[in-house]
Amino acid sequence: MKKIVIQTNDPYGENGTENDRKFVVFCTNLFTFSFIAHVLLMPVFSFFGNPLILTLDLSAAALDLFCLTLNRKRYVRIASFLWVLELSVLSSSCVLVFGWQQGHYYYLFSLVPIVFFARWPGALRIAVALFLFGDTLFLYDYTQTHSPVTPLIPYMATSMYLINVAINFIGLGYASYFYRAHSEQLERQLLRKANTDGLTGIHNRRSFECRAQVQLVQTDHQDECALIYFDLDHFKRINDSYGHAAGDRALKMVAEACRHVLRKEDLFARIGGEEFAVFLANTSRNEAISIAERLRKQIESCCLTFQDGKRFFLSASIGLAAPQLNEKRLDLLMANSDLALYQAKRDGRNRVVSFI
Ligand code: GH3
Ligand code: MG
Ligand code: MG
Repeated sequence: MKKIVIQTNDPYGENGTENDRKFVVFCTNLFTFSFIAHVLLMPVFSFFGNPLILTLDLSAAALDLFCLTLNRKRYVRIASFLWVLELSVLSSSCVLVFGWQQGHYYYLFSLVPIVFFARWPGALRIAVALFLFGDTLFLYDYTQTHSPVTPLIPYMATSMYLINVAINFIGLGYASYFYRAHSEQLERQLLRKANTDGLTGIHNRRSFECRAQVQLVQTDHQDECALIYFDLDHFKRINDSYGHAAGDRALKMVAEACRHVLRKEDLFARIGGEEFAVFLANTSRNEAISIAERLRKQIESCCLTFQDGKRFFLSASIGLAAPQLNEKRLDLLMANSDLALYQAKRDGRNRVVSFI
């Protein structure tokens, strides 16, 4: 049997969510930063003269490179888990060897956001967070009763402390900035999608109603705005004769053509199936009528050509209404232009009718 492969742009499909993709980028930067820090710390640890810590630091740098490779191959969950393990082992060992005062336990705190950003199973996240918490308490308790294996002379201890504070500040600052920027970007994308008609790329009904109502209320003189409502004529025939895809092509063509006629400040939206609306702010009724007439002519010039050579000429019936005195209700304006539109249909289609 022939296998059908369905291609999808679904952000929650096989390739993971936008969050998953961002986490891969975040980890790449984090592991790179970690690698650089471990390499720079090598001379420091070799100066301190503890072979265990130097070996662990070398291993950590090697593991950073391994994690980067895993991450590139999209094994981001394993890579992030290994990295958290690597850093907790190294920082805990540093506390045991150099003592509590050098602040190596700060790394255990800084790992907590990573644990919750990572897409690990919920129970694993909680277990690792509890482990980090328990580890910190254990290290505190242990260092209260045991002397450091390699005590540092005061200026080295201060330098080590400052290095640890700086690295943790940079790491946490970067993570906060990254996720803040990411959430703002997602919010913008979501808002854009919620306000846009997926097929034509113009405003959808929801966005139109919100924006038009605001513009209507802001209009100083009641007669200085208008609403155009139009419906494509005999549109069902395109679908019935040439299929839904041809109908979609027609809708895109009309939206694109109308965009050229309209001004940048005009609010243009697809309100329903083959119905469109335009809100014209600061526009008198006469100006609105001439814009509606321009739209009608532009739509009339749209023609769909099919593979069999047949052509389908489009047209639209257009209704127009301007607010009555002191009337700033969009629903009323839409109802009036709808009445005018249906009058245009009854009068024979492909024409502009203004509601009096
Ligand atoms: P009239 O001149 O009276 O407006 O006739 P009409 O055929 O345009 O009106 P009708 O309301 O009977 O048909 C509208 C059609 O628009 C029916 C529906 O299948 C089609 N339609 C609605 N939304 C879409 C869409 O997104 N894509 C396509 N291809 N067709 C759509
Ligand atoms: Mg129609
Ligand atoms: Mg219709």
